[in-house]
Order: sequence, then C-alpha cells, then structure tokens
Amino acid sequence: MTLSRGEFILILVTSTSCPKERIEVLLMVRKKPIFIFVSGGVISGLGKGITTASIALLLQAAGFKVTVMKSDMYLNVDAGNMNPLEHGEVFVTEDGVETDQDLGHYERFLGKNLGRENYLTAGKVYLEVIEKERRLDYNGRSIDAYFDVPLQIISHWEKLKRGNDFVLIEMGGTVGEYQNILFFEAARRLKIKYPQQVFFVHVVYLPIPPSLGEIKSKPAQQSITTLNTLGIHPDFVVCRAEKEVDKRRREKIALAAALPVERIFSAPDAETIYEVPLILKKQGFDRTLLRVVGKKLRKRDLKEWKRQLARRAQAKEKIKIGIVGKYYRSGDFSLEDSYVSVVEAIKHASWFFKRKPEIIWIDSEQLERGNREEELLGEIEGMIVPGGFGSRGVEGKIRAIRWARERQVPYLGLCYGMQLATVEFARHVLGWKKANTTEIDEKTPYPVIHLMPEQEKKLLNRDYGGTMRLGGWRCWVRRGTKTAAVYSRFAGVKGRRMVITERHRHRYEFNNRFRQKLEKAGLRVAGTTLDNRIVEVVELENHPFFVGVQFHPEFKSRFLAPHPLFLGLIEAAIKRRKNDSFR
Ligand code: GLN
Repeated sequence: MTLSRGEFILILVTSTSCPKERIEVLLMVRKKPIFIFVSGGVISGLGKGITTASIALLLQAAGFKVTVMKSDMYLNVDAGNMNPLEHGEVFVTEDGVETDQDLGHYERFLGKNLGRENYLTAGKVYLEVIEKERRLDYNGRSIDAYFDVPLQIISHWEKLKRGNDFVLIEMGGTVGEYQNILFFEAARRLKIKYPQQVFFVHVVYLPIPPSLGEIKSKPAQQSITTLNTLGIHPDFVVCRAEKEVDKRRREKIALAAALPVERIFSAPDAETIYEVPLILKKQGFDRTLLRVVGKKLRKRDLKEWKRQLARRAQAKEKIKIGIVGKYYRSGDFSLEDSYVSVVEAIKHASWFFKRKPEIIWIDSEQLERGNREEELLGEIEGMIVPGGFGSRGVEGKIRAIRWARERQVPYLGLCYGMQLATVEFARHVLGWKKANTTEIDEKTPYPVIHLMPEQEKKLLNRDYGGTMRLGGWRCWVRRGTKTAAVYSRFAGVKGRRMVITERHRHRYEFNNRFRQKLEKAGLRVAGTTLDNRIVEVVELENHPFFVGVQFHPEFKSRFLAPHPLFLGLIEAAIKRRKNDSFR
C-alpha cells in the first residue's frame, strides 16, 4: 500500500455479535516512515555501503518497504565523468543515472531496481540551489550555504518517504571531513523536524596495530565525539574490525556514545559481503532497531538468502575466470572496485553451480607486449572483456578475444567487449586488417563500430556529462540463438518475440553497413533494438559460448538472481573442463 503524507489507514472492525449497522471505526493510524542515516568514522572504505545494504535487507526481510539513498559529498553532479581508477565503478541505474558503486550493492542485496532519487551529490544540490537563485525562486533574498543547501538536501530525502516504511541514507565520506558538514547539518535538522522518526547508525573502524596485536577503540571513540560536535548522537554503532570486537571494547564505545552496550554491534571481516546481514542479525540488530524505532517485526524471510549462502559454502571446486581490462593501475582503489559488478555477477553465477570462482586479472597492456597469450591466458576457463573507454590496452584485449575465439574458450564481452569482439572478427576472419572502432581510429577503412549519430554533436560540444546512451533499453532476442537459450532457461523469458531489458552506457555502436558481411561470415546478430536498428548482441555460431552484448548485464545480477548470461558463461566453462578431461 502506498501512502503519502497526510493520508490515513482506516481499520474497520465488524463483529458477528454486533448488529450489522455497528461497524466501528476503531483506529486511525498515520503511517510514519523512519529515516536511518548511516555515517562512517575513522577511515574510508570500511564497508559502510555493505552495512547499509545489510540493514536494508534485514528490514525488508522483516516485512517492511525499504528504500536506500547514497548521499555523496563531492562536487561532481553524478559519477559519469569520474575515472574508475580513482572512484571505482560507475553503476548505471535502470532509469539511466550514472551513480556510485554502492547503489549496485543496494540493488544486489534488495533484489530490486533503484533510480534517480536514490543518489544525490553535493554537486547536484549546489547546481539546483544556484539554478533556483537564477529563476528568482528565492524571491530576491541572499542565499546562504549554511541555511539553504541543507534545505535543498532535505527536499530530496523527503521525496523518498513516499510509499516506504524505512528510508536509509548512507552518508558518503567520513565524519569530520570539511565537505560533509552541510549534509550532516541537513540530517540534524531533519531530526529536529521529526524527532521520533530519525535515527543514526555510525560505522567505525577499530584497528589492530601489528606492533600491539590488540584491538584499539580510541579512534572510534573520537569519531563518535566528532559526530557529537555536529549535533548528532548515534543510536547504534557498528564496529568494523578484522576480528570480533569483544564486550569490553564495546562497553568503551557504548560509554563514548552514551548508549547501552546492546546497541553496539561487532562486524568483523566476513568471508563474503553477503554474510554481513546474518552477522548483524545474530546479534539482534533488527530486533533492537525495530524496538528502538517503535515498529513490530512483521515476518521473517531470509530463507532464500541462507540457502544461497549454503550453496556458496558448498562450492569447493574452482572455476577460473579471466577478466581482461585496463583499470588496474591502482592508487587508493583495488582492482575489484573498477569492476565490482562484474566480479559480483561472476560470483553469483558460480555459486549457483556450486563452483568457487577464481578471478584471474589480466592486464591488457601486458598482452600487447609480444606473444604472451599462452603465459597470461593459458589457465583460464572462461573470459570476460568488460566495458571500457579509449585506446590504452585495446590491442591487448583484441589479442585476448582472438585467443578465446580460436581456442573455444567461453567468452562474454560486455559493451566494449562486444565492440572489440566485432573488430577482432572483422580483422581475423574477414581479413579486414585495419578494421576498428572509430573511437580508436577515425580513418579506418572498416569502421565496424562507429559513433552513434546522435552522439556526434555532444562530443563536438564537449557535452560529456550524462549524455551517453544510458539506462534500460528493450532488446529483441532472436530465437534459436545461444542468447535466447540462456534467457529462456535461466530467466524464463518467453513469448513469440523474446524481449529483454538491459542497461547501457556507451556512445559507439555496431555499424549496420557491415552487418550482412559479418553475419555471413559467422558473427550472428542475436539481439537488436525492437526496431532492428541497433545491434545489441552478437555471437559466434561455431563456438560453445561466445557472446558479446552492447549492454551491461552485470548491473542486473543479484545475489538471489544470478544473470542468465553469466550463468551461460560459467556453465560453458564447466562443460569445457569436463570435455577436456576426456581428451
Ligand atoms: N567506449 C565504448 C563506447 O563508448 C564502450 C563503452 C563501454 O564499454 N561502457 O561505446
């Protein structure tokens, strides 16, 4: 049921012992959504996103309608123009917003699509405030960052109330950072506005310095003090540490936070992020939270979740999947951050088949230096070339794709991985040696991948932000193809005309001028837009599993619903190993 502010639920009670006319209105209840802010202290990268996703899952499993937002503090309007090496993966929502990778975690945990309203940045807020000023929306008064910016932030948060019992808001960054202040101020004011409906979870880190070998709680205590100076008192504290945080330490934290020790939780490193909800649940996090916010548990529904975790635990046999990419030279961010959705999608699909995925990172630039395929690719059982931009490492990726095609290694190309598979096929099967994407070579005689017509102007005007072909688009999958087979077997897609929806983020596309020749030579078009204009999926006829997709299926793989294309890849890799052992 969806209720907005000012709406009421009427509970009508009839009784057989009462005359029919005596239907009574017993109760009028106003639905009050609860806001939960999740902030972080001590260090960045401590798993605040996973904690937020875990709390959201526990509440959803308890029978509540939950939504989650990430509020990021940087001045970028969205994540679209950010370098994955610096910021990690850019996650694309169904409605086409380029967001922070934490939204991916929320979707994978909750098993539902989020959108535009679930992601906010300081840049977006500032832009809106300035635009409002230009439109005279402030009636000529002077605009003040301290006063007006939090109001604008709150207006976004309030939108999320509609139809939800819980609104979780993850605050980007770490408490005490200069750029955070106006967001925390907004949260403080929301608490003043709804004293009974706003709660704070603070996630802290407790280090174990190697020279001491014991858990230290002082930095965590200090970060709680910092939060206090912003006028915010945490209602719960989650203690991240390499190990279990013992009662004595939790008592110290409780003292610093002026909370009973039952509200301090321990979140040690877990084998997998999907265990975190259960780690919190075991300590009674959901029960305590519901009691504190004044709600009653409606149901318990984590059975499927536990079943999938059990599958993972049973997975002993390894499957080696190679990811050939270039976002590997890393400063603060690990390799996995640039491709987090791809990595998670591989895990979901592998666990489904009770296999333990071993991801082999292959730096495409290394492949470019001579004939190193055997050495670098020899052991992999399935290959993925994920999305990418620009020329660095491209020739290495093409070498890898050739290897997969010729050696019958199961292959899944994601976006750039589909485009480069087309280039590889054109060069080495059709003999069009100089075939390329015009992203790399504008003058190629065989531009098998070229700029989408509507993109030309945007690039000329340097109009880069949020202007790619973005978000969910429908795709018509051709019957009789491998792609159709996996979607129908694993996702139950049916109908005379099979239609799927997948998420996009690109400026270039398959060039229809070469479609006939490529198809004739064996690169089958397995999916297009509904009007047949844009090629969305290509696959090889004479290969166990070689599929290139113009979209990003990794964004739609969930812990409880692995993506059919990834299942197809893993299944083919398993089969290949079996066949190998007979040789
Ligand atoms: N660079 C390619 C394009 O813009 C592919 C993008 C991607 O892989 N996401 O079309």
